[in-house]
Amino acid sequence: MPKIIIIGAGIVGCSLADELTERGYYDVVVIEKGKLWNPGGSTSHAPGVVFQTNGSRTMAQFASQTVEKLYGLRHGGDSCFLKVGSLEIATTPERLADLHRRAGLALSSGISAHVISPAEAVKLHPLLVRDKLLGALYVPDDGIARAKLADQVMGERSISRGARFIGDCEVLAIDQGDGRVTGVQTTQGVFPADIVVSCAGIWGPKIGAMVGMPKAIQPLAHQLCYTAPMPELSGYKGESELPVLRHQGSDLYFRQREQSMAVGWYGHRPLTVRAEDILPCDAAEVMPSQMTFTPEDWKGAMEQAVEVIPSLKDKEIVESMNGLFSFTVDNFPLMGEWSGLKGFWVAEAVWITHACGVARAMAEWIVEGQPKLAVHECDVNRFETHQLGSQHIEERGAQNYIEVYDLLHPLQPMESPRPLRTTGFYPRQQELGGFFLEATGYERPQWYKANTGLLARYTCPPRDEWSSKFWSPIIGAEACAVREGVGLFDITTLKRIEVTGRGALEFLERLTTGNLRKKPGSITYCLLLNECAGILSDITVMRRGEQDFFVGVNSNIDINYLRLLAPDNVHVRDITGGTVGLGLFGPKSRELAQSLTRDDLSNEALGYFRLKSTYLGHVPVTLCRLSYVGELGYEIYTTADFALKLWDTLWQAGKNYGLIAAGRGAFNSMRLEKGYRSYGTDMNSEHNPHEAGLSFAVRKGGGYRGAEAFSSLDPNSLSRRLVCLVLENPQHVVLGKEPVLHQGNVVGYVTSSYFGHTIGKQLAYAWVPAELSTQGSSLTIRYFNCDYPATVGQDPQYDPKMTRLKS
Ligand SMILES: Cc1cc2nc3c(=O)[nH]c(=O)nc-3n(C[C@H](O)[C@H](O)[C@H](O)COP(=O)(O)OP(=O)(O)OC[C@H]3O[C@@H](n4cnc5c(N)ncnc54)[C@H](O)[C@@H]3O)c2cc1C
Repeated sequence: MPKIIIIGAGIVGCSLADELTERGYYDVVVIEKGKLWNPGGSTSHAPGVVFQTNGSRTMAQFASQTVEKLYGLRHGGDSCFLKVGSLEIATTPERLADLHRRAGLALSSGISAHVISPAEAVKLHPLLVRDKLLGALYVPDDGIARAKLADQVMGERSISRGARFIGDCEVLAIDQGDGRVTGVQTTQGVFPADIVVSCAGIWGPKIGAMVGMPKAIQPLAHQLCYTAPMPELSGYKGESELPVLRHQGSDLYFRQREQSMAVGWYGHRPLTVRAEDILPCDAAEVMPSQMTFTPEDWKGAMEQAVEVIPSLKDKEIVESMNGLFSFTVDNFPLMGEWSGLKGFWVAEAVWITHACGVARAMAEWIVEGQPKLAVHECDVNRFETHQLGSQHIEERGAQNYIEVYDLLHPLQPMESPRPLRTTGFYPRQQELGGFFLEATGYERPQWYKANTGLLARYTCPPRDEWSSKFWSPIIGAEACAVREGVGLFDITTLKRIEVTGRGALEFLERLTTGNLRKKPGSITYCLLLNECAGILSDITVMRRGEQDFFVGVNSNIDINYLRLLAPDNVHVRDITGGTVGLGLFGPKSRELAQSLTRDDLSNEALGYFRLKSTYLGHVPVTLCRLSYVGELGYEIYTTADFALKLWDTLWQAGKNYGLIAAGRGAFNSMRLEKGYRSYGTDMNSEHNPHEAGLSFAVRKGGGYRGAEAFSSLDPNSLSRRLVCLVLENPQHVVLGKEPVLHQGNVVGYVTSSYFGHTIGKQLAYAWVPAELSTQGSSLTIRYFNCDYPATVGQDPQYDPKMTRLKS
């Protein structure tokens, strides 16, 4: 049994100790620099409001697990969770519409939620002013976490199982040997350890610095005030009986605490703080995570609060704080083992709302090797290098604080810092009027204004106001033009690595499901599985030489995963930044490419899923005969220095073939018509290859990670499947993450949805129960407050026989 040290006895550290000891890992020591059970971190003063609804299914499930666990935790008969329900109120039509969207997000994650009338909202929360309200989202299972109490209950339970909690003990350094942690040095001596888990909240960056780990965490001060007892609340006797409230339109939230109200506000300027500057326990006025209240930043908060709760007018504020907690560059927590040091784990930037769910996943990960829920969004190894710079972390953390309650469209890109990364094609894309969104920091064109003229040839159905944000009918015209002719797509943002060295083949065979023992020049689409046959990633392995592989992966998580497991004789090198990629796709792509090389590009010489090193004009390229849009075509890679020359060479030659530049919008629509799954959106580690429709990518015979679990699966008795839904009315647009219903009950959720411009249908891939997955099954998709009929259709809808790709 490993010796495990947890740094920090906040809600995350205590939950983790509880989850580990529950799984039989008793050799756990929790080291806390403050006093138990009120150590002075963010948990010690947070009001504990829990709103489970989240745009991320994983985060929503973490929240549901937290509610379930805390509700069941008892202290002297009292629950650690007050299920008083929540109301998110709308005072504008836009917010009201968004509440319907949020109700859909909740339902698709299994959380009961519905939009109620102003009268119903006032009945639940009589302090609310009725005439300002247009409606509210009501989630009956939301409420208040009694976090400090829960810490004590979970801590004492862990101790009763054998764990140790040591208060007044500060971790000063982390010992390492042979590339892994060996223990921690503290104010009370050295503690040996096989695993150290940093649950240090706002001090996370400080602990990270002890091992040379930059953490994308920014501590920020957040203002919270409590009123004096209010006569209007005198009838309430309990700790809290009224639902917790959010008025996102004014950046406000509220909870009742006995006869007083807590008012929290995100409307003030972002107050960033460096982890190193947080005061030690003995020097802090109240506690280290509470800074002195700055009244000048509170100006305007109560006036806006009074607009919806008039009885707050002129109420005395008796308690106020600038409380510290963590924001990250992408709003997700940091979870998992850091790839830079074996045995060093992190669970930080976690709200109370998600703490028990995060801790459960962490314990499963440590004990069983993988968490049950998909955690790729939260993986500590996900960050791009630029996301780990202090300026970026501070700027993004501050911006995310500002936007915490904003009404954000799913395609809304970060607005600053932009542009951050550009590919070598950027100047040409600007000349063509590219509309850019951001992907892994890169500017990536979504469509090109230069293609406006195509609208005379191809029509595209109109969209409602919400779905037409970050959208243009040009997207449809580009997709149609590519299917008939040829288009140039910038695919640089897709991550690429080289896996080389003696043993590279055996290494990749061991970790991937592909049959890689093919001649150099072959391409294999395959999967990375975990031990339970959950899909960790889908990757494209291109064999350039006997022990030389060029691999298209999904993210830094894949790269770190392969790096961590690579033996000494195998080198895993990220070549994304030093290379560029263009997709030349469409029926005329071969003629165009052939016009630039004397090498034979015929189907016989360079067939589907084959690659070739050649020159296009003067440019050395790797030409890969595959296309993610389901059309004859090539992915073309070269080094970054040749980017402009490659673009110009293809553009010049393309004039004879009607070449257009096409954006990511067309790319996505085309890939969905062809049924190509996108990792992280359509499937993840919660799904196995049979369910996801990817068993064709798994080789027979085993010998790869997850093979045993995969062979024990019965493809004929699956509980759910990813299916292609075709909406009955092609003008019904959905965007992804909406709930799928059958006879009025929520049975699944949408993953990706785009209009298929070639086939003239609105498509939505969705997870549904196996018994509803047969072609012809009738379902509905809830978009805002409308239910759109849809039918399970053929998968894929476009070119199921692969004739276009293989011709
Ligand atoms: C004003 C305010 C309101 C909030 N409201 C809510 C809310 O309503 N709902 C919600 O979900 N979240 C809320 N939050 C956020 C929430 O409080 C935090 O995200 C959460 O408590 C973090 O828990 P934690 O266990 O990660 O960190 P913490 O509770 O900060 O625990 C970290 C612990 O690590 C210890 N530690 C650090 N360094 C060392 C070291 N070197 N050696 C030993 N020990 C160390 C610290 O002393 C601390 O006790 C709020 C935060 C604030 C500030």
